[in-house]
Amino acid sequence: MAWHFALMIDPADSADGRSDFAATFTEVDPAAPALTVGELSTQRGDGIFESIGVVDGHAQEVEAHLARLAHSAYLCDLPEPHAEQWRQAVALAAAACGAGECVIKLILSRGIEHGPTPTAWVTAAPAADFSTARTRGIRVVTLDRGYALDIPARAPWLLLGAKTLSYAVNMAALREAHRRGADDAIFTTSDGFVLEAPTASLILRRGDVFVTPAPNAGILHGTTQSSLFEHLAARGFDTGYVTIGVEELTAADAAWLVSSVRLAAPITAIDDVDMPMDAAFTASINDYLLSPRD
Ligand code: PLP
Repeated sequence: MAWHFALMIDPADSADGRSDFAATFTEVDPAAPALTVGELSTQRGDGIFESIGVVDGHAQEVEAHLARLAHSAYLCDLPEPHAEQWRQAVALAAAACGAGECVIKLILSRGIEHGPTPTAWVTAAPAADFSTARTRGIRVVTLDRGYALDIPARAPWLLLGAKTLSYAVNMAALREAHRRGADDAIFTTSDGFVLEAPTASLILRRGDVFVTPAPNAGILHGTTQSSLFEHLAARGFDTGYVTIGVEELTAADAAWLVSSVRLAAPITAIDDVDMPMDAAFTASINDYLLSPRD
């Protein structure tokens, strides 16, 4: 992949009153090594990240991503990211993106082992082509995530609502889905409730009501799902956060996995049970998701 851009960020102190953060940024060659071997992000996956979709140079939902970055930092006991500094870094990355779809990643690592500060950087690269998933849909399988619905509240050290860099489990779930002949997975709890996909949120349609699993169940609060719920509400639909049993999945009138870069991928089968797919409606929500969103 031809990376467009990479920027190392010296973490700023929110107390220093600065408003221009250019002096805290160092643009680096995206193809050259940039991290030291003592990096805790690479040694332990100890850090957090965000992936922001970019359409024709416009970074989507930046404030929602910055809010979630701050929430993940809080859950992981990392220093609070300076919002204005990251906003300026995202603007520089977006300016490097040109036409078409790109992805900007924000990474905040615990830093270098025994080092004084976190390490932070931003990258921009072209997005993969997701047009087939958006228009023809995806087959999914349910996979047990191995804990009960109430675990996030009882075991906060599992960091279940944080977007940490430890995505090895999420990637393993995707490989398992592929082994089972599917494109993606829906995680379920050990007591039979639906959570999210390894890199996306789940939305179900029931008549004119759209629902998604409540984010307090140890899942990420998706920026795409939130934005889409606002849009659906403006179109006159009802939306809600609910607890969904696994057996309710195939009773839905339609289902999608939604995320910042792939956007809305309609689900055509769950565990080999065919699901209805509304191509025109899906196209209308992807048109919305591709329009400039703040
Ligand atoms: N859930 C998980 C585990 C994810 O990794 C992601 C995005 O990567 C999402 C949900 C969807 O979040 P967003 O819509 O903000 O991309």
